[in-house]
Amino acid sequence: MTLVRVTKRNPCPICGKPDWCLVAADGAVAICPRVPSDRLAGQAGYLHILRARPPRPPRPAPKVLEPPADFGDYAAFASTPAPAQGRSWPRCSECPKLRCCAFR
Ligand SMILES: [Zn+2]
Repeated sequence: MTLVRVTKRNPCPICGKPDWCLVAADGAVAICPRVPSDRLAGQAGYLHILRARPPRPPRPAPKVLEPPADFGDYAAFASTPAPAQGRSWPRCSECPKLRCCAFR
């Protein structure tokens, strides 16, 4: 980060004065000794964040195993473990639904 001294043409964005303060070359932060902030930048003055960093992209939600559409009773699904990898959901012996009556 490069800090440049403020000038008349490029005054301090915090206090508006043309001297004494420093501004980042990209305009992201300013160090102003006149206007206090909660961050002191050494002897130079107070650090002011002018432009927030772009927010981080939100994390993708964890994948939740959804029951098959014809599963039937969701409570029964939730209380029984998912089939081991490579095996399919067992079908009910009394109806075409997956695992419904058998788990009541
Ligand atoms: Zn200033």
